[in-house]
Amino acid sequence: MPTTVFTIANQKGGVGKTTTAVNLAAALAEKKIATLLVDLDPQANATSAIGVEKQEGRSLYGPLRGEGDALAMITPTPVERLELIPSEEDLGALEIELAGTDNYLGRLRAILEPVRASGRYGAVVIDCPPSMGMLSMNSLSAADHLLIALQCEYMALEGLGQILRNLERIKGALNPSLTLGGVVMTMFDMRTNLSRQVVEEVKQHLPDKIFQTVIPRTVRLSEAPSFGKTIFAYDNSSPGSTAYRNLAKEVIQRFQLAAK
Ligand code: ATP
Ligand code: MG
Repeated sequence: MPTTVFTIANQKGGVGKTTTAVNLAAALAEKKIATLLVDLDPQANATSAIGVEKQEGRSLYGPLRGEGDALAMITPTPVERLELIPSEEDLGALEIELAGTDNYLGRLRAILEPVRASGRYGAVVIDCPPSMGMLSMNSLSAADHLLIALQCEYMALEGLGQILRNLERIKGALNPSLTLGGVVMTMFDMRTNLSRQVVEEVKQHLPDKIFQTVIPRTVRLSEAPSFGKTIFAYDNSSPGSTAYRNLAKEVIQRFQLAAK
């Protein structure tokens, strides 16, 4: 069974990347797809949100420097069928430490090769930091599909242009088979026209890419990570749970993911 690698990226901060990475990964696992969440953000928000303690030396910092093996960094999470490669602050130093070195933007692809080859996972979900620096660019080189988390807010489309230009850059240089897998609209506020307008605009621009499922703005989604819980563990029948389950269904269909 092939492993499908997704990266969730957007250079803009606070748009729902981590919330989407964690809850989409957990929803895929719930639907019997063995999933690996990869925390590539030095802030380590995905690591704490899924309920795993940061541990010194357990992240992709070593492997990205050519020391150690990504498979050895994998840790279990409280969620069945969901495993994690945690992050730690040191990851942030790589930008400078590795600048100008060989294969600077293609390293993650190489170190995730054993993860693909292991056949352990149906899906890998990478959570990126809020910049299009070395770490996010590596995730684009390593992934099969880019999923963009886009907040329903003024000027959302501007940010989209910038990500799409980076997608083309990496496609041309390092990863010709990378696709724009989809756009997830986050923090949709039913009470505002602006949210609806932004969704409509993105639909017009990328009709085949935008997911039908729109993630609502709900307090429950913002509370769950402080308890180290997914939305399903925190409030299983909340609108946020329903939304991320529906998103997972769409992802499974769109990319033909199979349970393993
Ligand atoms: P960063 O760029 O810093 O990594 P991010 O893009 O990963 O941020 P998140 O951390 O997922 O974004 O979300 C930013 C903040 O908004 C967090 O406090 C999160 O709990 C909250 N949030 C995310 N999605 C929702 C939502 N649908 N409803 C309410 N709050 C949300
Ligand atoms: Mg984040």
